[in-house]
Amino acid sequence: MPPIFQNSLFTFENRDAIDEAFDDRLNSFIYSRGKNPTVRMVEEKLAALAGGEKAQLFPSGMAAISAAMLHCLRAGDHVVTIKNMYGPANNFLVSYLQPKFDISITFVEGKEVSEFKNAIQHNTRLIYLESPSSAVFSLQDLEKVAALARSKGIMTVCDNTWATPIFQKPLAMGVDLEMHSCSKYIGGHSDVVSGVLIGKTEIIDSIAVREYEWLGAKMAPFEAWLLLRSLRSLPVRMERHQKSGLHIAAFLAQHPAIAKVRYPGLPDFEQKELAEQQMTGYTALMGFQLKTNDLNKIKAFVNALKLFKIGVSWGGHESLIYAPAISYLKELSPEQFDALGISLGDMRISVGLEHVEDLQADLAQALEAV
Ligand SMILES: *Cc1c(COP(=O)(O)O)cnc(C)c1O
Repeated sequence: MPPIFQNSLFTFENRDAIDEAFDDRLNSFIYSRGKNPTVRMVEEKLAALAGGEKAQLFPSGMAAISAAMLHCLRAGDHVVTIKNMYGPANNFLVSYLQPKFDISITFVEGKEVSEFKNAIQHNTRLIYLESPSSAVFSLQDLEKVAALARSKGIMTVCDNTWATPIFQKPLAMGVDLEMHSCSKYIGGHSDVVSGVLIGKTEIIDSIAVREYEWLGAKMAPFEAWLLLRSLRSLPVRMERHQKSGLHIAAFLAQHPAIAKVRYPGLPDFEQKELAEQQMTGYTALMGFQLKTNDLNKIKAFVNALKLFKIGVSWGGHESLIYAPAISYLKELSPEQFDALGISLGDMRISVGLEHVEDLQADLAQALEAV
């Protein structure tokens, strides 16, 4: 196993050696707020996996997202993004960049390329994508949106956390920066919070110096080492997550207590053609809506589950259930909540690596409560 370089600093044989290291700071190990050998190993693997030139790890997915936005934007710029983007990323744009740096934002549903085209303004500098979205599982046409953006000199960033680099390659479709929360499938063991940006050397090097080193939120060598462990099983885990995800989605889709299932892997998924065109497989985070809106019945269902643990996040070995309404209702007005198209009966499950028949039986017995 490669060592964990638990160094804050690195020492040199002589004065010339440290002088040379400073000449090539981006590829030298001097101080661990910059480069660290254990972190570098994982970055090289992630870049290779995504088919990118270089990667920069961050101590969380949000650190990667905020770094990407700060890299792309200057005060007064305009951003086009999707309505149901990951919540904290939305908060960073709307409640931080917008008021502090006069950033304006246009939200689109994102299913049609024309929506992006119509939203572009003279000062649009960034199109921020998340496909499939982890809230409503809608897709954007990555190749067409990236081509449109490139023709106008606009940067594209795609949150690829749902599909993982195993099932979707945004960089090959022309996207400038691919982002992952490594806290989900890439980590996979529910013991690491981390994030990554992958793209061309020129972009990643700029981010490495400015948004990574200067903002100073650095990746810990131990967390990187855990990711190295995780990456060894990523393809095998994803194969199993896909198989179980498809199985559970099919079970839910035919269940009489369920109004609808949101999952790109289902045969009747509304953007199926696009899903097959730009992804080579499906993972196991999905949404479904109970027919009932009676809070007591909804609680009875959730509380009856034994194998699905109640909690946020997803992508680990364990199965999880979460009701998006819990946090939305605390942050949004009732009108904003209604506009989301999500109800009290909307559930999100992450299908883990347990025996799929056990998971199905657990859902079946809990659904009797509704
Ligand atoms: C969790 C998540 C993030 C943020 O990652 P953290 O590691 O929690 O900061 C970003 N995008 C998606 C889709 C996520 O699920």
